[in-house]
Amino acid sequence: MLANASVQAVQSGFETLNLINSICKVLREEKYVLPTPIQEQAIPYLVEGRDLLGCAQTGTGKTAAFALPLLQWLEKNREIVRPKSVRTLILAPTRELAAQISESIRVYGRYLKIKQAVIYGGVRPTLQIRALSRGVDVLVATPGRLLDLLNQRQLRLDNVGVLVLDEADRMLDMGFLPDIKKICKVIPTKRQTMLFSATLPAEIVKLSKEFLNDPIQVTVTPPSSTVKKIEQKVLFVDRENKPALLESVLEEDQSIYRVLIFTRTKHGADRVAKRLIKLKIPTEAIHGNKSQPARLKALDKFRSGRVRVLVATDIASRGLDVDGITHVINYDLPKETENYVHRIGRTARAGMEGIALSFCDAGEKSYLRRIETEIGRPLNVDQAHPFHDESIANKKNGGRKPDSEKFARGRARGGKSRSNGYSAGKNKSFSSSQNRSSGKPINRKKNTRNKRAS
Ligand code: AMP
Repeated sequence: MLANASVQAVQSGFETLNLINSICKVLREEKYVLPTPIQEQAIPYLVEGRDLLGCAQTGTGKTAAFALPLLQWLEKNREIVRPKSVRTLILAPTRELAAQISESIRVYGRYLKIKQAVIYGGVRPTLQIRALSRGVDVLVATPGRLLDLLNQRQLRLDNVGVLVLDEADRMLDMGFLPDIKKICKVIPTKRQTMLFSATLPAEIVKLSKEFLNDPIQVTVTPPSSTVKKIEQKVLFVDRENKPALLESVLEEDQSIYRVLIFTRTKHGADRVAKRLIKLKIPTEAIHGNKSQPARLKALDKFRSGRVRVLVATDIASRGLDVDGITHVINYDLPKETENYVHRIGRTARAGMEGIALSFCDAGEKSYLRRIETEIGRPLNVDQAHPFHDESIANKKNGGRKPDSEKFARGRARGGKSRSNGYSAGKNKSFSSSQNRSSGKPINRKKNTRNKRAS
């Protein structure tokens, strides 16, 4: 649930949004008292059948903003679903996000008789094909798997009445544009289309012109009350000392009880997880090399608190909706500011406070500079930790140094007895994926098809 503070600006409740009783009942049961800004601004138009271009990130309540009108459309346009046919389609970039949306549809639609299915790559398609064979009211899918099954004639899209493209900017980044175009070609043009994106770069505006018909446009930024509750710190540390620093941070501060650690590579994630497990710290890892069932199982353990630490790569964590993450640790700093913002946004959800710690070695100093420039302010430096490396703090030039140079600098100081002082408390602010100083969206990496989810 979102914090009350995040919806304070909204005056009226859900009853003014023209939603049907069976949906309002769920909202009451879920204790959604007030619509979030995106819900308030979008739902009245969406229930009238208008197209939408929504600029909103995860955490703003965007899933309900599209799911509730979609379910209402289904209820108002009841018809028997034909075998292999799909009545509404939601496209999402990653398996995790698709599974999450599907779960939301199940919750919001629990008083409606709807058949739904979710399909994504990385698992055998047998069960997905079986679910599709009966026909579905709602299909949530990643583009790659959808196109595969479409080509195998396991489903048909000629009866789709509502199409949602969620995290469209991410889908473009992941190289899904050709797949999306192929998919849209076989969906009737007489349909309602909703496109959501965290930023609105030129490609998205172009895409919206191609796929949307006279859309309303709604832009929301994450509620500042939530955002302000992330305390961000950078810890300068020699690369060799990162494992020891992580160990020290996790051992000394028990208030770090649900922590998401990011590494740049899959192997890095496995290495960190293995080490922590050796130290008897309950840990799971999720990344693209893990099977889908293994990823879902790991997520489930993390959500339920059976493991304290989840180590993830950027792709695997996209759209991750886990409440109560107390800390995000950037074991490796991301090259892209957008990933930094997404990573730290996994904490301080649902009105809670959160802390983001970024380990920065000499080679990552340039990434740090870019992040600080693009979010419009420097991060606080934590000098109190036992592995603080002043030479990195003072380093002028960015870029990764050759290993020989790195080793020549010698070992950092040892000792683990000092308090790290990582307990949640002070409020700091951070920027969303808009560049604060310029107000422009942060540059996004161009298409990298190898990052696809399916
Ligand atoms: P989303 O941005 O769709 O990922 O939603 C973020 C979280 O906010 C989810 O856990 C939703 O269940 C919750 N949420 C969405 N809308 C509301 C609302 N109007 N009131 C309270 N919680 C909400």
